[in-house]
Amino acid sequence: MKRLAILGATGSIGQQTLEVVRSFSDRFQVVGLAAGRDAELLTRQITEFRPKLVSIESASSRERLRSSEYELLSLDELASHPDVDLVVIAISGKAGLSPTLAAIEAGKSVALATKEVLVMAGEIVTAAAKRRGVEIMPIDSEPSAIWQCLQGEEGSVARLILTASGGPFRQFSQEQLAMVTPQQALDHPTWKMGRRITIDSATMMNKGFEVIEAHWLFDVPVEKIEIVVHPQSIVHSFVEFVDGSIKAQLSPPDMRLPIQYALFYPQRPPSELPRLDFSNIGPLTFEAPDLEKFPCLRLALEAGQKKGTYPAVLAAADEVAVELFLEQRIGFLDIATLVEEALGQHQSIPHPSLEEILAADAWAREKAAKTEIRK
Ligand code: MG
Repeated sequence: MKRLAILGATGSIGQQTLEVVRSFSDRFQVVGLAAGRDAELLTRQITEFRPKLVSIESASSRERLRSSEYELLSLDELASHPDVDLVVIAISGKAGLSPTLAAIEAGKSVALATKEVLVMAGEIVTAAAKRRGVEIMPIDSEPSAIWQCLQGEEGSVARLILTASGGPFRQFSQEQLAMVTPQQALDHPTWKMGRRITIDSATMMNKGFEVIEAHWLFDVPVEKIEIVVHPQSIVHSFVEFVDGSIKAQLSPPDMRLPIQYALFYPQRPPSELPRLDFSNIGPLTFEAPDLEKFPCLRLALEAGQKKGTYPAVLAAADEVAVELFLEQRIGFLDIATLVEEALGQHQSIPHPSLEEILAADAWAREKAAKTEIRK
């Protein structure tokens, strides 16, 4: 039995992780569950999975959740607890960073869904994992595809090719993009995801985060990571090797597959997940991304190449901008404007410490929140 702690249990990835656990209940024991605010769903999960360790961010919910059945801990305490073998990090945003480092320092395996962890602090996190001999296992379709293609192949990679669905506005004109509403952006055609990541998919910022994440996970320079738009989301990514051969990983779009792959790694369990039916699949198409139409992607690639504290500023300014867009205080195209302003005015620090990264994050949040949008 692998003993799991799931951080972000009530979010989309957390819930799908618990679905996987349900279908392999003889293989996994949920010892820890952590949530941000959704005390109601967390309570139902506690009733079902009976964890010994619980964490909730909201102070009022913490009072309500007090019980003699389990220990109430902070995220870092939960992530580093001696009874935990594997920590699933699926909290949205920078809140995932500290517990990830705590888990690594405690020698836990980490299954990582929160992109900001490596976007903000990839150098520090991967160095800590190396030092502690800990594996960081990605939970997302594209990095998982690359990870699967790389099995037995390390040292012979020529480039990584990440696929992108292109989001719901792939074929929109600039005029149409300017008018996009939060509701339109929240209707993602193929993936079931949280609100922030759905908007990030629509702007393609999410793909930029994945490039930076893949750079740190697989130690491949950003310049050697390409993006190809593949709206059907069947090929989850490619790896090209030095001899010109290319491997791909394919499956129906279902996040439970990468979750299951990470939880079982290095085994591959038989499962009941949906299968590809090639007689019904229709055409698979591939095209280059449009960096002019999707400036967030261009900004992310630039920040990823420049490194230092730029990626932390990118992620922080984007988080604020997405929130402002969801509150209908700025337009869809203004998300990129806010991020670009923050990056343009930032004084980056090379090889930053954790403190310097967090300072850059705070600076970028304030900057983005104060940027005036000219109507
Ligand atoms: Mg993805």
